[in-house]
Amino acid sequence: MKTKKLLMIPGPTPVVDSIRAQMARDTVAFGDPDFVEDFKEVLHDLKDMWNCDGEAFVVAGSGTLAMEMALANTLKKGDKYLLVSNGFFGDRFIDIAERKGIAIEVLQAEWGQPILPEEVDKKLAEGGFKAVSVTHVDTSTGVIAPIKEIGEVIKKYEDVIYIVDGVCSVGAETADLKENNIDILFTGSQKAFGVCPGLMMLWANQRSLNRRESLGTIAEYYCDYEKWLPIMRDPAKYYATPPINLIWALQESVRIMKDEGLENRYDRHKKNAVAMNQAFEAMGFTILADKEYRAHTLSNLVYPEGIDDAAFRKQLADEGVQAAGGVGKYAGKMLRIGHMGNADRHTMVSTIAALERTVKHFNANYNMGTAVTAYLQAMED
Ligand code: PMP
Repeated sequence: MKTKKLLMIPGPTPVVDSIRAQMARDTVAFGDPDFVEDFKEVLHDLKDMWNCDGEAFVVAGSGTLAMEMALANTLKKGDKYLLVSNGFFGDRFIDIAERKGIAIEVLQAEWGQPILPEEVDKKLAEGGFKAVSVTHVDTSTGVIAPIKEIGEVIKKYEDVIYIVDGVCSVGAETADLKENNIDILFTGSQKAFGVCPGLMMLWANQRSLNRRESLGTIAEYYCDYEKWLPIMRDPAKYYATPPINLIWALQESVRIMKDEGLENRYDRHKKNAVAMNQAFEAMGFTILADKEYRAHTLSNLVYPEGIDDAAFRKQLADEGVQAAGGVGKYAGKMLRIGHMGNADRHTMVSTIAALERTVKHFNANYNMGTAVTAYLQAMED
């Protein structure tokens, strides 16, 4: 019998039945009054739940589009921009900014550690910066950045727009705009929202919308706030065809979040991540991120000595779990497991058990059941 494959990469994450059902509905016209009401409700909920006094944008595209949208609507050619990069996805901003002629400066963290607020403060004190971006959870390292503390620092600098890449965090880690002094936050549908890939969501507060206005006409067309604002304020209007079924899927995802409660959802992710990490350590993996800065959405595991990444992941796939490899300097040295969104406890236990069978395949001395026990015990605490 063929083993079912669990989707345990750090995004896309498992899509639950009720969300999948929305993808299978008969597609309607984008002007359909019921759909327009649904789209309105999603936008209202997104703004409300993340405390945004400006606009939420839901646009067809992936997280990378949101990265470009954030910079394009905040900075013009020659503007000074500070990138706080904690890894591979932070670094993606370098190319985006350079293509736009933005004067980027980079604070680059050691992989496994974040840049601290004091360092951001020191850099901003040099003067002239118009924006700072921070990756909340860099998926390449599993490090969570201290966005609240960095937000406190940024408050002192009147001209600075604070952009947070929440692609691997929003919906699983707290990222309230007001609480963290964030001006622009964004994510993709495929991670902690547990929706199929294909949507980006971006929150822009009033302060950042004012910045956009001050830029006049910008070169970008598809990701210009000014093109989308009329639609986000009244989804009966047309600019570019909305992905109707994905928006229904997002509506269902948001309904699930409201039902669970955001605080409960954050607590669930935390408790589960701590327990998963105990299981991973019991199998001999080393967690890259310093304990103090470990994200709750995924684990970045450095292999024990002598394990070949490709062979390990092939065996793990045969055991029924899809996991990701390392990127950048950890390519071939790391296993990355996502544990965010709507993946439930059954899925976690099955994932650990499949990992145990795989570890046993490579190490006959491994004591089966150790990691499942570590997980279950930690979940009891
Ligand atoms: N930022 C972060 C933190 C990410 O993890 C990713 C994707 N893994 C991206 C940006 C890019 O998103 P996408 O692949 O959806 O374009």
